[in-house]
Amino acid sequence: MSNTTRRDVLRSLGTVGVMSGGAALAGCAAVPSPASPALVASTPFRIAATTIPIVGSTQMFPVRRIYCIGRNYAAHAREMGSDPTREPPFFFQKPTDAIQLVPPGQTVDHPYPPLTKNYHYEIELVAALHSGGRNIAPADALKHVFGYAVGLDMTRRDLQRAMGDEKKPWEIGKSFDHSAPIGPIHRVDDTGHFTRGKIELLVNGKVKQSADLQQMIWNVAEQISKLSEAFELMAGDIIYSGTPENVGPVVRGDVMTGKIEKLPDINVKVV
Ligand code: MN
Repeated sequence: MSNTTRRDVLRSLGTVGVMSGGAALAGCAAVPSPASPALVASTPFRIAATTIPIVGSTQMFPVRRIYCIGRNYAAHAREMGSDPTREPPFFFQKPTDAIQLVPPGQTVDHPYPPLTKNYHYEIELVAALHSGGRNIAPADALKHVFGYAVGLDMTRRDLQRAMGDEKKPWEIGKSFDHSAPIGPIHRVDDTGHFTRGKIELLVNGKVKQSADLQQMIWNVAEQISKLSEAFELMAGDIIYSGTPENVGPVVRGDVMTGKIEKLPDINVKVV
């Protein structure tokens, strides 16, 4: 056994194989290749890769992690009960498979989640990275951005608040199934960076949130820089950049429209 390599063991177990069966692996094409592409152990079942369409491309953007910044507009920080002048940026994550794709021109059904009686919208600009690193300087940060999308950071506000009151983690309020509706990603080459521009959320055609991206406390470059102090950022990471004031509830039957200047609207119906 001492001269047996890991590869021999895997072969004896019948688990060494070259990726084959393209149909079964559909969707894997955009995922970075493993270090040894010829050595891919089989798995007892498959899980779907999370990808987001890229506008103007047949390729899909593979999602690695979803980061979200909290209280990044002063008026929203105040409505959440904190002082925006004293708080450094803070972040939380949603699971990658919380993504719900919202193609432009369609109204997508969004399931009202369990456990909550106060389900809130938060309209947000999302930045998608094609590269990353640690301790990225703000001046270098935007070169890591692949593109941008319109997103919703859906929140079980009652559960978030209850956990906060008890000094427990936010996951149950923020990181549940389908909690990250998002439109397609627009490449920076097509849109430029988003440092200003109107951001709005409508419910049943009525404006609920309305602000300008330049009102962010920490802009996208600063968010990337701060995040990279805490985590090594990598290609495939996406960042929900915070919501303006006037978050509020939706109920079954409501249609939310998310708008960011220069991007197509997203429409989501709560069912
Ligand atoms: Mn948010």
